[in-house]
Amino acid sequence: MELAIDLAEDFGSRRWWRGFATLTALTVATALMTPPFVPLPGGHPAAVNEAEEAQFAAAGIGTLVEGSTAGMAMAPTRAVETLSAAPERPRIDLFARLAPRENLARMLVRLGARVGDAGQAQLLLGETSIAPGTSIAITLGRNEGGVRPVERLSFRSGLDAEVIITGSPAGLRLDRQSIAVDATPLRIRGRVGDGLYWSLRAAGIAPDIASDYLKALGGQLDLGTDIAANDRFDLVIANRRAATGENEPGALLYAGLDRASGAPLQLVKWTVGSSSLWYEASGVGRQVSGMIWPVSAPITSGFGERYHPILHFMRMHNGIDFGAHFGTPIVAAADGTVERVGWAGGYGEQVRLAHAGGIETSYSHMSRIVVAPGSVIRQGQLIGYSGNSGLSTGPHLHYEVMRSGQAINPMSVRFIAHATLDGPSLTAFKARLASLLGVGEKG
Ligand SMILES: [Zn+2]
Repeated sequence: MELAIDLAEDFGSRRWWRGFATLTALTVATALMTPPFVPLPGGHPAAVNEAEEAQFAAAGIGTLVEGSTAGMAMAPTRAVETLSAAPERPRIDLFARLAPRENLARMLVRLGARVGDAGQAQLLLGETSIAPGTSIAITLGRNEGGVRPVERLSFRSGLDAEVIITGSPAGLRLDRQSIAVDATPLRIRGRVGDGLYWSLRAAGIAPDIASDYLKALGGQLDLGTDIAANDRFDLVIANRRAATGENEPGALLYAGLDRASGAPLQLVKWTVGSSSLWYEASGVGRQVSGMIWPVSAPITSGFGERYHPILHFMRMHNGIDFGAHFGTPIVAAADGTVERVGWAGGYGEQVRLAHAGGIETSYSHMSRIVVAPGSVIRQGQLIGYSGNSGLSTGPHLHYEVMRSGQAINPMSVRFIAHATLDGPSLTAFKARLASLLGVGEKG
């Protein structure tokens, strides 16, 4: 049987209809077997909603000036429940420092404590004063309408005592607890090295102790030339150490110098009557005390030869000139007695003081004198005012220092006082020296 029939022939015949039916059946079968049509992905990206945009902004680190947040901030999911209020901490532990002109009560109120508790704590403290800057450990209890009760507070009222205030429903209670303190002195030794002061500082010695040590040594030797790099310093310093670990260094008790060549220097501070001196191990005390400048004014002419501006020839300048304005207060350069006052020729109005060790000082061209002959003068005491009296080209102070009547350079003067221990005080001194030398070394 013929399947492929030309439908253009014999239109309407049985053969034609059979051919037409075959074509229809094939077309329907093909249509039924065709897979469904689905749109292909591609083209423009889908629009980004606001939440997604925030995620992109957070993940992509943009510049902060554009308001970008840095890093990935995870948005909460539906699993997260929103809180109606932030939870309160049941207890706050803090350290606070008392501000200047602040008392404990004011500080507690500032930190959010109950006003009643603050007042009571202050009352319990009574006469005890807390130094500004004292660190106070405070524990505050549960928030009650914006304020918290004081549960505990404590601070050190000294190296050897701690004050503790504890709170309870019955109110606050104050306890003072003493802390054991050990008063063994510290001994620190080391090599002098390139610079004694900095070697002392590097050994952990405080600036004031280091300078006390240098002063003690300076009374016995020249710090500039008599100390070698290989010499070793040896200090004993009073010290209080609390059981809780704090240290409170005190005064310098012993100043020693073990010299690489020569005898060691062993100095102990010893008080006889009202004066304290550094005594050598043999019991000889020596103190060097300087003079102070008589005015606070610049030096306009030093000691030595110079051309005299009025007399017009070279002559020795026997003192120092200070360019002090008319009426500048003049004070005594050292302790002494007033030897003479009044007119002294070219020197004009002059005060002359006599000091220990055959030293004299004179102050010339003054405008006014306020001391009388014979009176005892302390170092720094006012003796008059500067002026322009006598042979002078303008207001200034001419200051002279004389030893045994001979003018010397005021820059070079040092007073040396000697004292010697003997008898029972020497025995006591030697015992003290031995006990200080028995102190163990630091660390
Ligand atoms: Zn002069």
